[in-house]
Amino acid sequence: MKFEKIKKLKELINDSKSIVIIPHTSPDGDAIGSCLALFNMLNTINKTSQIISPNKAPDFLNWTPGFDNIIYFDSDEKKCKESLLKSDLVFTLDFNDLNRIGELNEFVEKSNSKIVMIDHHQNPKDYADLVFSEPKTGSTCELLYEIFESIGLENKLNKDISSCLYLGIMTDTGSFQFSSVTARTHEIISNLLSKKIDHNKIYNKVYNDSSESRLKVLGSALNSLTHIKELNTVFMSLKREELERFNYKKGDSEGIVNYGLSLKGVVFCAIFIEDTINDNNVKISFRSIGEFPCNLYAEKNFSGGGHINASGGRFDGNCEKAIEEFLKTIPKYKDKLI
Ligand code: 5GP
Ligand code: MN
Repeated sequence: MKFEKIKKLKELINDSKSIVIIPHTSPDGDAIGSCLALFNMLNTINKTSQIISPNKAPDFLNWTPGFDNIIYFDSDEKKCKESLLKSDLVFTLDFNDLNRIGELNEFVEKSNSKIVMIDHHQNPKDYADLVFSEPKTGSTCELLYEIFESIGLENKLNKDISSCLYLGIMTDTGSFQFSSVTARTHEIISNLLSKKIDHNKIYNKVYNDSSESRLKVLGSALNSLTHIKELNTVFMSLKREELERFNYKKGDSEGIVNYGLSLKGVVFCAIFIEDTINDNNVKISFRSIGEFPCNLYAEKNFSGGGHINASGGRFDGNCEKAIEEFLKTIPKYKDKLI
């Protein structure tokens, strides 16, 4: 970690009177984990902060230490605006483009705060006064741990902060299986475990806390699985009528796309999910194993982006039309798929 950057970060934190921390829209384990790890760490040095999330986090994260302190822009706009306008330091965690926080963006720009970006996605946009951007690092939580250590705060790591960091590292590495995992990742995990965190509880809260609707939605998605053998590709879909029939709730489809990669020989998988609120919109998630660049594919064909092995995008239309577009475009990537 560069000495000047760490020095500047220390100064910004020391000089600040009102700190805001923001995760991306539809925050995941890494976004919530990193925001709450920072929130709890700032508390230990007597700096209070406010986490403002663009919208609600899924229920399976609501046990994370400090979760009840989060306020939500989509349901409490007034309080969020006030907090932002009086802030002098804003941390943006687990994203690198202000379009990932929707309308909240406008108030970040109006706030005149110094902005610190801590993130691990590719191609950071130029909006922050201080940038910690490490696309090779598997999670924002891992990067945040390195920052804590560089600042000299490792002796402040307690069980709560360690649980938050563990959550983000676990979820963003697919439970320590992705190629982004290094010896250093495990060294960090070892340090977190030494703080007596309940890693088994964290795993169960995240992965073994399904609702009935989630399991039914999973069944429906798996049932739709289509294997394009000649391209080592599979895709799944969830149509609006099915989602409604199974009493779909936001978050129920999280992670289902990964099941596609468990089929022998498959290197690329997509899931198409019709929006249950906005007609004519499909949310797509892509996952790959190895070299296939999900992010470039999503960027070029479905107005999206992300990481090499996990990306997402959107399509104006229904599932059927989105799949038509998918089937038309993937043969162009044949040499990267086989
Ligand atoms: P998911 O499939 O879990 O929604 O998204 C996987 C990853 O892809 C996320 O971590 C995020 O970085 C990225 N991603 C998802 N949707 C979009 C999008 O619409 N635009 C961009 N730029 N990235 C996305
Ligand atoms: Mn992340």
